[in-house]
Amino acid sequence: MDEKQKKPRRPLWFWLILGLGAAVFIFGLGAPRTLSSGNEENVTYDVFLTALEEGKVQEVELKSGTLYYTLKETAQPAATAGPQLNFGFRIMSGSSKKETVYTVTAMEDPNLVDRLHAAGVTFSENPGTGNMLLLILLQYAVPILFYIAIFSFLFRRMGKLGAGGGLMGGFGKSNARSIDGGEVKTTFADVAGQDEAKESLQEIVSYLHNPKEYTEIGARMPRGALLIGPPGTGKTLMARAVAGEAGVPFLSISGPEFVELFVGMGASKVRDLFKEAREKAPCIVFIDEIDAIGKKRDGFGGNDEREQTLNQLLSEMDGFEGNSGVVVLAATNRPESLDKALLRPGRFDRRVPVELPDQSGREAILRIHCNRIKTEGPIDLAAIARITPGASGADLANVINEAALCAVRSGRHAVKQKDLEDSVDVALAGKQRKSMVISQREKEIIAYHEVGHALVAAKQKGASPVHKITIIPRTSGALGFTMQADEDERFLMDKQEAFAKIVTLTGGRAAEEIRFDSVTTGASNDIEQATGIARAMITRYGMSESFGMTAFEQMVNPYLGNDTTMNCSQETAARIDREVIALIDKAYDQAKTILRDNRSKLDEIAQVLIARETISGQEFMDILNAPVALPAKQEETNE
Ligand code: ADP
Ligand code: MG
Ligand code: ZN
Repeated sequence: MDEKQKKPRRPLWFWLILGLGAAVFIFGLGAPRTLSSGNEENVTYDVFLTALEEGKVQEVELKSGTLYYTLKETAQPAATAGPQLNFGFRIMSGSSKKETVYTVTAMEDPNLVDRLHAAGVTFSENPGTGNMLLLILLQYAVPILFYIAIFSFLFRRMGKLGAGGGLMGGFGKSNARSIDGGEVKTTFADVAGQDEAKESLQEIVSYLHNPKEYTEIGARMPRGALLIGPPGTGKTLMARAVAGEAGVPFLSISGPEFVELFVGMGASKVRDLFKEAREKAPCIVFIDEIDAIGKKRDGFGGNDEREQTLNQLLSEMDGFEGNSGVVVLAATNRPESLDKALLRPGRFDRRVPVELPDQSGREAILRIHCNRIKTEGPIDLAAIARITPGASGADLANVINEAALCAVRSGRHAVKQKDLEDSVDVALAGKQRKSMVISQREKEIIAYHEVGHALVAAKQKGASPVHKITIIPRTSGALGFTMQADEDERFLMDKQEAFAKIVTLTGGRAAEEIRFDSVTTGASNDIEQATGIARAMITRYGMSESFGMTAFEQMVNPYLGNDTTMNCSQETAARIDREVIALIDKAYDQAKTILRDNRSKLDEIAQVLIARETISGQEFMDILNAPVALPAKQEETNE
């Protein structure tokens, strides 16, 4: 598919090693000794001197600090050798003669040469010419090759050397992945839900199919569409689907790929990308994660490289004619950080929100991914969609995949509903930690805590029904959790419901206090969440009596975590804090009241939970609504 990808080039070190190997092969690691390999015998220096004095030595060769010598035939115990030929520096053909070669470590002996000469011994020194060559090679050539290798590696890192000409021809190559028309197999059918987004993009598709229809009427196509939404909602998928539907060439590149080490290189990549696009028009250019280059240009010390890249992008988008047939799609999850110039009409003038899916959207996404796996037994995807509010398409795809993995782990060949439900728990709270040993007392505390949440939720109007309670520890650090699930999707939350949420969150701690008269660290996450809701009620939702409809906090980065910035005087901030504390105190009191009123149910359900570790919402409600087993207290069992 990647037409532009070159054949993998052999790395430089490969050639380096090959060259070294060849050198070794040619020159040898050391020149062979001329005195050849007969029997070798190691002797001491005095033995050598004695032999020399007695005139028995025939020939001597010095090589790398070792003296090799042979004895005259008469001196040899077994005379096996043939006739001797004495040339000054003779080369003995070793294989023909089987004489003993004595070796001795050479010593500092300045008179040796004179004595050898006097004794009429043939002697030579073997400097090992091959070795020298190799040495030179190692000393000079290898370091040079090494530096060349490092530089070429660095250059490639910086510029991803392409096929361009000139010294630095490759530096500005766009390295966009280019896929020819009709080769993208993704279509709108692969994208579940997101009907509005599809509708917006459908127009681009039909324009690319039949530009004439639009040009005749004089309509100008939007040059670019910006897909915005939280991570994992299918923006990248959608862009591919547009290409698949349109069947035109698809040039895709990710924003961070433009950001280069050298100023100007990103800009030249942009130029290159659009040049290629114009050649291939009609086509789609897709810039993923455009916020990497499209960030607002601010006053302070900006980033030259990024700004140049952005400027180039802006001018390229202005540059091509309205109906040149190049449509630019881009995706981001930080639209608020984008430069205004990028968003003005004529550039990315169409914004396509790709939001988190609603309940039916989640079901549809689950269905698409579920169709790719084998299932058995009844599968209720609507039930899964109900317990995954706030999940993105990527999360849901992951849930299905985890379920399939889970089925394989337990040795089955198809996925059951149970796998899917377990997989949601894994996505929510991590895997089960079966090895974790929890003392009986702690288990009791956890059970009371979780039942506290569930009971408080069940006894309040406006709280979501309980779906599941479990006290199996999870890898996320949760020791248990209570899952609530609404029957239908909720889009609004009224003040009473918001307060009920806080009461439910404080229910865990309240149960601990009522049963054990002590509190634990286990409620920290509940406390955090409760505080968050209480603060939002007061500072953003206008749900406090004393402040009314004034906003003191602004959301920043709505798609990436709900960060907020405080925007009020210190005095007000202090008042807000006091209100938050009062609100949570009130909720905590209410939770305790509910639990005290239902003390026997609290005990009963906690005992069941300790025994079974997990109970479903239905089982929970059954116990709650059953007539009280013990006649100790009169309980109202109605809702
Ligand atoms: P984004 O670019 O918005 O961060 P992606 O397009 O990369 O998200 O989506 C990641 C994956 O999640 C996709 O490959 C797909 O499997 C799944 N996914 C997300 N949204 C949908 C959807 N609407 N329909 C089907 N699958 C989806
Ligand atoms: Mg993406
Ligand atoms: Zn809790």
